[in-house]
Amino acid sequence: MRFRVLGCHGGESATHRASSFLIDDVVLLDAGSATRSLTVQEQIAIDHIVISHVHLDHVRDIALLCDNIIGARKQPLQVHCTDFTADALFKHILNNVIWPDFSKIPNPGDPEKRPTLQVNRFKPGATIEIGPYQIKTVLVNHTVETHALFVRDKTGTIVYSGDTGPTDLLYEEANKTEDLRAFITEVSFPNAMEGLAKVSGHLTPLMLQTELKKLKVKGQVPVLIYHLKPAFYDVVKQQIADLKDSRITILKPMDEFTF
Ligand SMILES: [Zn+2]
Ligand SMILES: [Zn+2]
Repeated sequence: MRFRVLGCHGGESATHRASSFLIDDVVLLDAGSATRSLTVQEQIAIDHIVISHVHLDHVRDIALLCDNIIGARKQPLQVHCTDFTADALFKHILNNVIWPDFSKIPNPGDPEKRPTLQVNRFKPGATIEIGPYQIKTVLVNHTVETHALFVRDKTGTIVYSGDTGPTDLLYEEANKTEDLRAFITEVSFPNAMEGLAKVSGHLTPLMLQTELKKLKVKGQVPVLIYHLKPAFYDVVKQQIADLKDSRITILKPMDEFTF
């Protein structure tokens, strides 16, 4: 599968973009920076968005994306998330105050006049089928309900952790995944801010080192790091380098991989 990094930071600046990853041009994992990173035509081509959790840096561009694609797409964009995430998204963002509720407005580009966006709710921990992809969701440890997404196609499985502090189930499930091609996980704060990382459900480089001891898969699977906070980017990058773990690469916006 083709994996494009649209954004991979825990915030935004001129050089940092909130989290969003595109699979084979059609499935988006989170939507933190989906609009600023893609042409309008590329945005129109997205058929599905799977949401790890409802924090703003992971859902913000659902609102802006809908505005760009209404009238241009012929079918609804399918959003996949839990009840908790869907309810929060429509209560707080797509609430006809902050932004229109695009799950209600008929899309003039759709011959059947369906809305621009349709929500597909999954139960926490469920496995969902999206075209050729099987996506297993695994609860992780963040301040709101958050799922890791295990995306499998015929070539293998990639794991996207979502935002998480220390957690065990993610690693237990990853260790059972025989066709694991890449393990994408977060690091947010520098080592000196471990207290903040713990209360906010995130990791520091040293906490990542402890977490990765739980990853016991055959062979050397790439560990791709996202969610560095822009204000601490340089120090966290150095502290990750200091771990001297040859599996690790820090992701950059617009990186592309084929797994
Ligand atoms: Zn985040
Ligand atoms: Zn978060």
